[in-house]
Amino acid sequence: MASSIIENLTTGKITKPEIIQLLQAEGNLQKELFEQARKIRQRHFKNKVFVRGVIEISNHCRKNCDYCAMRYSNKNLKRYRLTSTEIFSIAKQTRKLGIKTLFLQSGEDINIDKIIEKVLPKIKKELKMKIILCLGNRSKNQYKQFRKLGADAYILKFETSDSILFQKTRHEPFQQRLQCIKWLEELGFKVGTGNIAGLPSQTIESVANDILLAQKLNTDFVSTALFIPNQDTPFEKASSGNLNLALNIVAILRIILKNVLIPTVSAFEKIKKNGQLLGFNAGANVITINFTPLQYRKKYLIYSKDRFIVSLDHALKTIKSAGLKSNHFSN
Ligand code: SF4
Repeated sequence: MASSIIENLTTGKITKPEIIQLLQAEGNLQKELFEQARKIRQRHFKNKVFVRGVIEISNHCRKNCDYCAMRYSNKNLKRYRLTSTEIFSIAKQTRKLGIKTLFLQSGEDINIDKIIEKVLPKIKKELKMKIILCLGNRSKNQYKQFRKLGADAYILKFETSDSILFQKTRHEPFQQRLQCIKWLEELGFKVGTGNIAGLPSQTIESVANDILLAQKLNTDFVSTALFIPNQDTPFEKASSGNLNLALNIVAILRIILKNVLIPTVSAFEKIKKNGQLLGFNAGANVITINFTPLQYRKKYLIYSKDRFIVSLDHALKTIKSAGLKSNHFSN
């Protein structure tokens, strides 16, 4: 018999104070929360996990987010940008492993746009892969161009629903971010969004609002990242986000949004061995394998130095341990 709070969450009758209670769930309540999340995942996806391959194509960035070492004012970071030939060749290796969804991620680097425009049609035509882009804010016209050239999906996280915290940490208007998400939806992209759990000065109420915003945006994918202090940033001395909080967010999102794709992110593994397995146990159904060439990986510092790099082997082992099955033919 489910607790009334889990029932309220499942039937959409949950109140904000109850979400706050679930965000802090431990012990039996957390166990029940995760069980319900797995039940809902099973109902919508059976035991299928979607496997994506990511290439981090550039670490140049025009933004200056306080939590990220790729911020433009970090002069200690050596910058790189892959060529279209390099991207295509890695995409080809990824496709050979049976992975059909390619995730191209970069700092907010407008100089990558022409490279993407060149390589995107080639990947679509020759490798028949689905393409997810995660490149940050752009004009509606630029998004339209990516869509026209074959991009299927775009991930643009709102990071925090607290507009003041957003402005303070990312130094840009929150409304602009929401506008970009709206444009992507209008242009027919599958859209992914989400938050960061544990940002310095983020409150639990603000995390509850993140959940409500994710519900309102009703995107196709949603994720929660975990804040990890990053060297050469204003937040380098802050404490890491709480893994339990992030796992509770995953489970709540699964129960509320039901049939969305939710990744178990590498930051979970960085904080705790088998952290990504815990993500699956909380209701996640996506894992992303890193195909960024070795010489560039260490320079892609979006969440932290010494981040955990997800290999094919680790992904497959984690999926198996969770009692799930990989579906390379992910969408
Ligand atoms: Fe740039 Fe993204 Fe890092 Fe912000 S989080 S500095 S936009 S790469």
